[in-house]
This record gives sequence, structure tokens and C-alpha cells, in this order.
Amino acid sequence: MTTLASNGTTKGKDSLRAPSVVVIGAGMSGVAMGAKLKEAGIEDFVILEKGRSIGGTWRENTYPGLTCDVPSHWYQYTFAKNPEWSHLFPTQPEIERYLDETADRLGVTPRIRFGEEVVEAVFEDGKWRVATTKDVYSADFVVSASGVLHHPKTAPLPGLDSFQGALFHSARWDHSVPLEGRRVGVVGTGSTGVQIVSALSKRNVDVTLFQRTAQWVAPLPNPPTGPVLRWALRTFPALNTVFYRTLRVLFGGLFQGVIHPEGIRYKLVNAFCHLHLRTVRDKGLRAKLTPPDKPMCKRTVIHPAFYRAVQRPNVHLVTEGIDRVVDNGIVTKDGQLHELDVLVMATGFDFHAFVRPAKIVGDGGRTLDEAWAESGPRAYRTVAVPGFPNFFFVMGPHSPVGNFSLVGIAEAQAKYIMGWIDRWRTGQFDFAEPRQDVTDAYNAEIKEAVKGTIWVSGCNSWYLGKDGAPELWPWSPWKHERMLSKIAEDEFALTKSGP
Ligand code: NAP
Repeated sequence: MTTLASNGTTKGKDSLRAPSVVVIGAGMSGVAMGAKLKEAGIEDFVILEKGRSIGGTWRENTYPGLTCDVPSHWYQYTFAKNPEWSHLFPTQPEIERYLDETADRLGVTPRIRFGEEVVEAVFEDGKWRVATTKDVYSADFVVSASGVLHHPKTAPLPGLDSFQGALFHSARWDHSVPLEGRRVGVVGTGSTGVQIVSALSKRNVDVTLFQRTAQWVAPLPNPPTGPVLRWALRTFPALNTVFYRTLRVLFGGLFQGVIHPEGIRYKLVNAFCHLHLRTVRDKGLRAKLTPPDKPMCKRTVIHPAFYRAVQRPNVHLVTEGIDRVVDNGIVTKDGQLHELDVLVMATGFDFHAFVRPAKIVGDGGRTLDEAWAESGPRAYRTVAVPGFPNFFFVMGPHSPVGNFSLVGIAEAQAKYIMGWIDRWRTGQFDFAEPRQDVTDAYNAEIKEAVKGTIWVSGCNSWYLGKDGAPELWPWSPWKHERMLSKIAEDEFALTKSGP
């Protein structure tokens, strides 16, 4: 057992207690949490990371064409602004490098234990006992920063096992498989499938896209930043802040506004998507690419060149349903065999798992699975769950995801969690957990707010929970930041361990 710190002792000139903290995951959220812990002078923490390097989703997803659809200068930490972004929207290698360099520069990297997957965290005898595949840690606080989209979902297609070619999920891209001159099938037309097909269409690859449901596509260009702008950002760092804030207002405001179908912002995006679809000249192809639902009901795909890509002669759009997979390809419901050498499943992720399948056992032996069994994932203000003392989430249930930048959201949550850790250091309490009644009231408010949003206008998306209600933040990203900017102590149950 690795004991991280001495609970209850005093430390340093301020006589503050030294908390021990386990952070789960070294992706963008875990690095944010690590940076905040370092900033507060807390050294007794580890970040447990199942992978071999930093980056989370930006390490796991390496498929061709992967570009973040949130602008670069908004998709960065406020405490680590990068003047070197090469394009308006950052590419995967750039983001991975940025996270890696930031963690290094802020001294977070030495706190990371790579290759350690958390299997269980149990609250017992006033401590969290966190077991990984390699070791056991004891801590006062656990922060789950395990990411939102990191459990790949492979479509359970009949006969999948019989496929004799290369088969992988988009988040497990096998770069050893040659693609040039070969027939590649892609299942799925979400942001991932669209990016893969667009990238492969420009290569000597014969691409077949299996589309179950067409998606709306908004065409935002991705111009390079250029040496002059990068020089200006390097020389005048305040400019980077101006960029950050401007993009936050523009994109945050736009995407928050478009969730209400009666508003002008929605009407604009709606018209924009429809006009973009009209750039597909062939009426038959256009009909196949016309979604049955409304723009923004699913997470809008942002891509400037997808429609151009599907019109290339080496790209085939198949809209017949998949009947089965056979050893040399896919047979569609019309009986046609589509021969393939490589099959890519761009079929998304399990958005509702959060830190699970790790077993999280709270006070009194109640597991997170049990706490969420009926309702689905629910939390107090995205960050904590009743019955799980000193356990916090970065990117927990109902965190603003949509088309927002998750970086600012993670920062706001990490800062909020630090507020509780700082209070613990003063000895004000030993254990803090949100009150059930307050958590219920907050979730009822969300349930009310998602009614009438575009997300419930009739589509099947990963946004929806098992009760059919969207598990999304229904307000602006700055409302979320405001909500977490102050700690409402009366909304928590605070207890001491001793008499
Ligand atoms: P997704 O949006 O969930 O899309 C999954 C696709 O797979 C859908 O087209 C779905 O069809 C299809 N599919 C699922 N099961 C199927 C089955 N059994 N048979 C046939 N088709 C099936 O997943 P994603 O594209 O990986 O994107 C997930 C999220 O990741 C995005 O919404 C976004 O938040 C994020 N992302 C962001 C970026 C970026 O920043 N650029 C890039 C990639 C991903 P139906 O629509 O019919 O269900």
C-alpha cells in the first residue's frame, strides 16, 4: 500500500493540514487538476493513468484527419496559453504535444503513475483506498478525471468476428495496417466517421461509408494562423487572452443559443446547414445525405470538406442497412456484398460510463453503480455525488460538453474542487459530500431546462440517457463557471472524524 500523506497532521508555516489526493486519469482534465494542486503547493498527490502517456482522448484517438472542432485559442488552459497553434482548429498531434509540454512545464508529469488502471476506490475508515492494476493508494480525496468519451462502442454487427481483414475501432487506429490501394469500410457518420472519410478520400484509398443516419454538417474553414500572428501572440501574450475571450463569447454564445429551436441563432445555424447541404449537386446523393432530424439535435458535425469528399469517385456512400459482416466485407440488406480489406468502426463511445467500470464504493458500502442505477449518472452541480465523501469529478454528469471547449470547463471544476481541499486543509471538516435534497433539486432543474431544447426534437444521439432525457448542460458555459465560482457550504454535509 502506498500511503500518500499523513492525514490530520499539520504541516508548514501556515499550520495547514497536508491532504493526500488521488487523481484518476492524465488527460486534459487530470492535467488541469494536477496543475491546480501544484499551484496550491500540494505535493502529496498522484495521477493514476492506465495509458503509457499523457493526453487521454487525444492520445487514444489518432485516426487520419483528426482535428478538434473547437478553436485552438479557446481549447487551451488559461494558465498555459500557447502562441504556437498552427491553425484555427488544432490537430490531434498538436493538442497531445501541448498537454504533454504543459504537464512537464508545470511539474505535473512526475506525479503521474503510468500503466496503472484504477479498478476500485473504496471509502473505508475515513480514507479512500484506491486499488490499481499494480498498487494500492490511500488518500483523503479522490478526483475522477477519467474523461467523457473514452469507452469505445463497437456496433454489434452480426458476423463481425468472421471478418478476415483488419478491423479496429476509430479510437484504436492500427497504424501498422497499410491503406494505400486498399478498400476501407467506415461504419458511422458522426464527427469521427466524417473526419476519417474526408481524410482518406484524398488518398489512394477506396472508401465505403456505411451510413445509418445522415448527420447535419456545418462547414467551418480551418485556415492556418501564419507566422505573423504567431509572432504577435508570442510577443504580446495578452493578445492570446483577447483571442480566448473572443472565441469563448462567439462560440459559447452561438452553441448555447442554438439549443433553443425558436431562437434566431438556431435559425441561422439551421439555414447554414441546409445551404451547405445544397452544395451537393447530385440530387440523389443529396437526398441520401439529408438527415431525418433537425440540425443540432445530435452534436453538429463541423467539417469544411465532407460533402466534397463524398462526391469523389473513390468514395461510396452506402445507405442500405447492414445485414451482416462476412469474411471479405459487409453484406447490406439488399443482398449486395461490399468487399473490404479494412473495416473501421467509427461507432462512438459510451458517454454514460464515466469512471466506471472501476468500482467506486462510497460511505456505507454503496457503489456508484447502485447510486446511479435508477436515475442514470447524476451529480451535484457536475462535481460530486451524495454518499461519496471527498470524491469529486472533473467532467462529471451534465458537464457542458456539446460544442463547447471542455478545457475551460475542466479548469472551473478543478478550481472548485481545490476550494474544498483548501477548506479541508484548515481543519474545518474531514469529510464533505453534497446534500441529497440539494442534488435532487438541481437535477430537477436540469430536467426542466432540457425540455423544449433541440436535443429532444426527435433523434437518437449519445446525448440521451436511459430515460430519454439529454444528459447535457442546458445553459451557457459561463453559467456553469459562475455556478462553481463560489462554494455553497450549506449545500454540503460536513463532518469530522473524531469526537
Ligand atoms: P457518434 O457521434 O456517437 O457517432 C456514431 C456513429 O456510428 C453514428 O453515425 C451512428 O449512427 C453509427 N452507428 C452506431 N452504431 C451503429 C450500428 N450498429 N450500425 C450502423 N451505424 C452505427 O460517435 P463519434 O463520431 O465518434 O463522435 C462522438 C463524439 O466525439 C462527438 O459527438 C464529439 O463530441 C466527439 N468528437 C469530436 C471530434 C472533434 O472535436 N473534431 C472528433 C470526433 C469526435 P446513428 O446516427 O444512426 O446512431
